[in-house]
Amino acid sequence: MSSDPKGPEGFESKQAALMHIERPPLPWRTVVSTECGRPISELANGLVVTVSAAQKWFKDNGARRASLFFCVTCCDTTNRWKSWQQDPVDRMYRELQHMGWGGRRDKNRALVGAELRAIEALVSQHREEFEEIKAAHLRGDIKALPVRTNHGGGNLD
Ligand SMILES: [Zn+2]
Repeated sequence: MSSDPKGPEGFESKQAALMHIERPPLPWRTVVSTECGRPISELANGLVVTVSAAQKWFKDNGARRASLFFCVTCCDTTNRWKSWQQDPVDRMYRELQHMGWGGRRDKNRALVGAELRAIEALVSQHREEFEEIKAAHLRGDIKALPVRTNHGGGNLD
């Protein structure tokens, strides 16, 4: 039951107040958009929450109530895709699918290409370390890797 029984105009303002969910970025990027594709910079403070905050809200309040407070596209999208931490292949597939195969939607194609070339360059500069980390992941033994602080790299998980 709404405490704000307004007509179509009120409905619009209520829709504008729906909360959105951050689209988890690839680990080397910063968050810039919501799961529904809106730039975060265009939304008011407090109207964008992290995936984990949204999931906690769903757990505490129930999924049915979420549609009263959250953008439906954000909810559907965040439940459809895995995070990088859960499955980096799924997350990368999402990125490539969003970009569009064959350059149909190539807005981010140059960025993704530059990132892949940067990763290639870093791997070639640190081949031994790369092979060590890769082998640990294949063994499911990433916690056995020593913590490296000599190059100021980010968190690997
Ligand atoms: Zn949204």
